[in-house]
Amino acid sequence: MKAGIYIHIPFCKSRCSYCDFATDVYRNNEAVERYVNALCTEISDFRFQISNSEDQNPKTSDQIDTIYFGGGTPSLLSAKQLEKILNSIHKNFAVEENIEFTLEMNPATVSLEKLKDFKSLGVNRASFGVQTFDDKALKILARGHNAEDARKTFELLRASDFDNISFDLIAGLPNQTLNDWERNLDEALKLRPEHLSLYLLEIHEGTPLAEQIRSKRQPLPDEDLAAEMYELIIEKTAGNGFLQYEISNFCQPTCESKHNSKYWLCEPVFAFGVSAHSFDGKKRWSNERDTNKYVSLIEKDESPIVEINKLDEKQLAGEFAFLNLRLSKGLNLDEYKSRFGIDLKENLADDLARLEEFGLIEYAGDCLKLTCKGMVYSNEVFAVFV
Ligand code: SF4
Repeated sequence: MKAGIYIHIPFCKSRCSYCDFATDVYRNNEAVERYVNALCTEISDFRFQISNSEDQNPKTSDQIDTIYFGGGTPSLLSAKQLEKILNSIHKNFAVEENIEFTLEMNPATVSLEKLKDFKSLGVNRASFGVQTFDDKALKILARGHNAEDARKTFELLRASDFDNISFDLIAGLPNQTLNDWERNLDEALKLRPEHLSLYLLEIHEGTPLAEQIRSKRQPLPDEDLAAEMYELIIEKTAGNGFLQYEISNFCQPTCESKHNSKYWLCEPVFAFGVSAHSFDGKKRWSNERDTNKYVSLIEKDESPIVEINKLDEKQLAGEFAFLNLRLSKGLNLDEYKSRFGIDLKENLADDLARLEEFGLIEYAGDCLKLTCKGMVYSNEVFAVFV
């Protein structure tokens, strides 16, 4: 089976108020250089680390057909640093030609020249973190850029021939009305990106935004309004020729994210960098979450892996079911039965009947699918399969 490679770049210009990813503020080039060196060492020692951590064979012979640089803000890397990491990947993995190669970018972090350099290194897809076109909301989120920066960076992306751009937008921001959200969606759709990732805001404990909500400086997210916003997403994207292929992901025909689809289809992804999570089809493992510790471990020739979970058949079957259910085409029950020997309709008859009665799931031929309501309350459905 073909595999993907994920590289985590943990540096950002500033720290957003809602973010709970493993990221640090970009301090100086020296720190980034040190991190890049550690990453390259981790990539080249991959075989060594996995075979030392577990008794299984490493799977470096997998053909790689996607590379994804996420973060953090990978667009803060220089072209030289990106090239160095890529060389390391190519030396250690069998990378196919014409792969999907995505780099996450944030507004006001790239110049035309840098984008052209990224393109010449093979980056052919930009995942662009816009989040909102509303300057007031951007301030609350502490995004460190304004809406005009986002518009200008999008123009730069097109000017440097990026023809596969994904937009990230967040709905349900503090004080955001349905009309505000509609304006944001309209502006994004008018720009005609090839792909849209549209998320509902999640509040994570320990973030500044969670604290502001607790101390009543910002309002609690309104669940009913979020559901209305989600319905508007479905209506507007469909009306503008976008296909929904996953709960939060929409695209122009044939522009699905190949890399992200691997997560939902339970295909292997080898991930490197601080807090990176890998899956080889049978086990999951993850790296140290603190950047300094991650770098120090590697500099001391020690493995950055902090957790390995070998999944048994039951766990694999459960994960496969709820990850496939995230996809619009749903879970094919016949294929599932022949792969795992489990008849879900029989095994979960009462649960499925209840979810169907609440309007959260539906059947389409051999497939079990989430309804629009089920997509909003997907965690209720997934709980049945875990
Ligand atoms: S840019 Fe993204 S990764 Fe960086 S702090 Fe903001 S939300 Fe987190």
